[in-house]
Amino acid sequence: MIDPGLCASCVHAKRVASRRGSTFVLCSAPGLPKYPQLPVRTCASHEPAKKKKD
Ligand code: SF4
Repeated sequence: MIDPGLCASCVHAKRVASRRGSTFVLCSAPGLPKYPQLPVRTCASHEPAKKKKD
């Protein structure tokens, strides 16, 4: 997968795999494109996702 940039650590991002094997980001933040062009380097709606405990 290409570097998703900020989306990699964002609570609004969901990684989706296509049938062809590529992966991309589905963004659930309101008012933004559903499929942002990666890598996202600046985003006003970025919210850090909480890290999961192992
Ligand atoms: S809000 Fe911004 S950083 Fe978060 S998933 Fe959407 S485009 Fe990526």
